Amino acid sequence: PIEPWYIGGPVIKGFGRGSKVLGIPTANLSTEGHSSLLSEHPSGVYFGWAVLSTRGVYKMVMSIGWNPYFNNAEKTIEPWLLHEFSEDFYGEELHLVIVGYIRPEVNFPSLESLIAKIQEDRKVAETALDLPLYSKHKDDPYLKSS
Ligand code: ADP
Ligand code: MG
Repeated sequence: PIEPWYIGGPVIKGFGRGSKVLGIPTANLSTEGHSSLLSEHPSGVYFGWAVLSTRGVYKMVMSIGWNPYFNNAEKTIEPWLLHEFSEDFYGEELHLVIVGYIRPEVNFPSLESLIAKIQEDRKVAETALDLPLYSKHKDDPYLKSS
């Protein structure tokens, strides 16, 4: 397990690459003001808990990095909240407590293999977050302060 870390802010527009169409919407956060946190934590896939101030607490699996498949020049913070929402929540305040690291960021030969890996990451996150070690962070005060 890693030392939990925290990041939050309003949900911003990403590149709109159709991750939603692929069944993997990611609520992007601005990286501004988070450079030291981002340099302390390697790029890759993490999991933890997310809270949307007006909606509740959800499991999340998150990519932090340059998305080599898409050749991004800038790092992005992209949590996928493991819940079906009936509407978008751009602009809403999103707080994350990050409790575990799944794998480093790697490139994939095809979009299909990228999607398959993300679905595998989701299952890892779903299962891990039910363990007392990780589920206890669902009550983290940081999530309630939003
Ligand atoms: P963008 O490139 O703008 O981030 P996405 O295709 O990644 O677009 O979709 C993300 C948006 O979809 C979020 O900003 C949010 O408003 C909405 N959304 C709906 N359901 C979810 C979910 N389960 N997890 C994350 N975002 C979601
Ligand atoms: Mg996104």
